Amino acid sequence: MSFQNPVFIPGPTNMPEELRKACDMATIDHRSPIFGKILHPCLEGVRKVLKSDNAHVFILPSTGTGGWETALTNTLSAGDKVLAARNGMFSHRWIDMCQRHGLDVQIVETPWGQGLPAAKYEEILRADTGHDIKVVLATHNETATGVKSDIAAVRRALDAAGHPALLFVDGVSSIASMDFQFDAWGVDIAVTGSQKGFMLPAGLAIVGFSDKAVAAADTATLPRTFFDIKDMQKGYDASAFPYTPPVGLMNGLKLSLDMLLEEGLENVFARHARIANGVRRAVDAWGLELCAASPDVYSDTVSAIRTPEGFNATDIVTHAADTYGVAFGVGLGEVAGKVFRIGHLGSLTDVMMLSGLATAEMCMVDLGLDIKLGSGVAAAQEFYRANPAAAHKDAA
Ligand SMILES: *Cc1c(COP(=O)(O)O)cnc(C)c1O
Repeated sequence: MSFQNPVFIPGPTNMPEELRKACDMATIDHRSPIFGKILHPCLEGVRKVLKSDNAHVFILPSTGTGGWETALTNTLSAGDKVLAARNGMFSHRWIDMCQRHGLDVQIVETPWGQGLPAAKYEEILRADTGHDIKVVLATHNETATGVKSDIAAVRRALDAAGHPALLFVDGVSSIASMDFQFDAWGVDIAVTGSQKGFMLPAGLAIVGFSDKAVAAADTATLPRTFFDIKDMQKGYDASAFPYTPPVGLMNGLKLSLDMLLEEGLENVFARHARIANGVRRAVDAWGLELCAASPDVYSDTVSAIRTPEGFNATDIVTHAADTYGVAFGVGLGEVAGKVFRIGHLGSLTDVMMLSGLATAEMCMVDLGLDIKLGSGVAAAQEFYRANPAAAHKDAA
């Protein structure tokens, strides 16, 4: 791997130089008022990125996976029923975590490549007249398949069924890159991490809780210590943490939030959509197909690209690393060897993306696939020329 090349994995993502520097700071006394000047802007900024007025934001030294654990352990008790669809590796892992915590998961098996089955959720919720289901899990963006799901539709399913279950959303690979509406979608817990849309090193779990989710902690009995939101809230009330906070990372998050909000969330989302569109044009020009089944579920942060039958897609990833010093994502779980993934989220420009597409082409040609060098790049170039990045025009 060459450190001069950008990475094209769907997290951790490329880090802008100024964010790296913001994380690299001298030791401060985290019990002094200086820490509050980092903590409170982070909580406030995350709330804005979630598009929420009142979400209770918690930032924990962990990763997205720890965010899931924070969500489950603070709101549920062993034996509680949870409804979840499995349509990729990340939804699978969340289900696995539920099971390891002794929760009773009703799993809706969903073909990998499809979005969450909101209509099926509604049917199950309607049938649950005793309201045994306590939580509905929804993976907003399945990073394994490059599939985005309609969270508003899941909320409508809950409402149509008149069901009081909480709605927990994994937004690890969507929040801060794709539109996410905590309040409008009636989300009860949103989970993300620092190393994807926030363009930081891994190390922070970032979660938002609704009032209803916070109230669930009063009766939830799953064991929790490190991830206990009540301890965390008590800390925050005193501008502190219940333990030693990861100050440098949080200083990075503060700057990341400033950068995102200065660019404007809608501009950030539009940039991701535009770059993703260029990638999809390239895939089309290569004569390949996405794992994502239909345009309504195409992700703007990651594309999982199917390779021809009998070809091992992982070879592209290995070859790209060995020969060109470039990182792409391998296929995971059910689609291992069948897809390779191009991550296109975080700190990325059209020009960086074109270099990734050019590299993917070299790899595919090297490995004998019937693809013309430059075909995908040209298709993306045409798209980027026709849809120039607004930010540069403004800056000029
Ligand atoms: C990356 C990712 C996770 C896991 O997050 P970690 O920070 O690696 O623990 C969970 N869900 C989705 C959708 C992801 O993309």
